[in-house]
Amino acid sequence: MAATSPTTPTSAQAVNAGDDHPFVRGVREYAERVLRPTALRTDREGVTAERIGELRELGLLNHLASAEHGGRSLDRGADRRIHEIVAGACFNTWLVWAQHAAVTARLPRSPLPETARRALTGEILLGACISDVRAYPKRFIEARRVGGGWVLSGTISWVSGWGLHSALTVAAVEPSTETVVTALVGVGAHTRATAPLDLAAVAGSRTERVLLEGAFVPDDHVISRQTLERTRFDDIATAGDARGHHFGLAETVLRELAETPDPLVQAVATAWRPRVARIRETAYALADEAAAAGGGPHRLQERLDAKVASGEALAALTRALVVARAGRGLTGDDTAQLHARSALFVLVQGQSADVRRAQLAHLAGG
Ligand SMILES: Cc1cc2nc3c(=O)[nH]c(=O)nc-3n(C[C@H](O)[C@H](O)[C@H](O)COP(=O)(O)OP(=O)(O)OC[C@H]3O[C@@H](n4cnc5c(N)ncnc54)[C@H](O)[C@@H]3O)c2cc1C
Repeated sequence: MAATSPTTPTSAQAVNAGDDHPFVRGVREYAERVLRPTALRTDREGVTAERIGELRELGLLNHLASAEHGGRSLDRGADRRIHEIVAGACFNTWLVWAQHAAVTARLPRSPLPETARRALTGEILLGACISDVRAYPKRFIEARRVGGGWVLSGTISWVSGWGLHSALTVAAVEPSTETVVTALVGVGAHTRATAPLDLAAVAGSRTERVLLEGAFVPDDHVISRQTLERTRFDDIATAGDARGHHFGLAETVLRELAETPDPLVQAVATAWRPRVARIRETAYALADEAAAAGGGPHRLQERLDAKVASGEALAALTRALVVARAGRGLTGDDTAQLHARSALFVLVQGQSADVRRAQLAHLAGG
């Protein structure tokens, strides 16, 4: 599906904003030297605590925080480039890191409980447990008001990076008021993983299903309290747009296709590179326009079209790489199968009811 152009198209220069930033260059150098060459191993063996330590050293655990917290206050364009670079080099590392990065951007600057301060300074890694709110009332974490705070209980369907976190950001719902309470919960006595998940994609992301057994959260650990309606409105921006990791993965696959000596394979990269660039430019411009308009469903159908188009592009490109590598592409030591599985994950990650509908309608020819 062709992505439509927004009224205020972003120039290629604006889309590539951040490329010359010294911090972005440093991340790119690290990604090429460390992440990319070990991506297959990381998928098999999992993201390690040492890797998180490297990200911390680089400043990637608080790149969005202000200088006051040792961060770099990176702007949207540079942040997008970093997501592209990390995801393109190692999708498993990206998934674990992205949960923390997204959450730290939402932490209140004051008053700041100790856990939030340590997350903002990059001292600790946070997990994100927010997607169950999408499935309310079928499935959700329950918040119950008690003196001085809240008690949170339920099964968190997906926690990437399990074993690497000190605390989790949990979004729970108080059913009687349909209030969404998002709070920092320490990992410990009240959190435990259930039976291991047998993941077909991003197997190295240490993603687990986690039981939250009556965890008490004091009021000062609550990041936000808002209506379910408002949460769903905000989620449109989280789930509705094609984002940096889509295009980072696409760039990696395009590069591997282009580096193949066979001219037939190179022709696939030549044909798709400008299409991917167009989808990326459109997706970013629409997302920026929606943010400037106050978020929510602003030009939602066009944004969903761009997201569907990016998923389609990834499916086609990764399929081409498997075809090009023939038998080798299906062995565990070939990146073709790694990228194809990562592309499958992109189809379900951040899937809201709207995203699901848009993808299926497209596949049905609607
Ligand atoms: C490997 C992996 C790691 C993840 N890591 C994290 C993480 O660290 N933190 C985090 O917060 N999330 C994480 N997620 C969650 C991810 O964002 C969710 O996959 C996404 O929100 C979709 O939820 P779901 O897969 O549980 O699907 P579901 O809850 O089954 O459905 C997704 C959407 O489709 C709608 N839907 C489902 N069935 C129907 C139907 N029959 N008719 C109409 N609508 C329907 C639902 O209402 C919902 O909006 C992870 C997911 C995976 C697969």
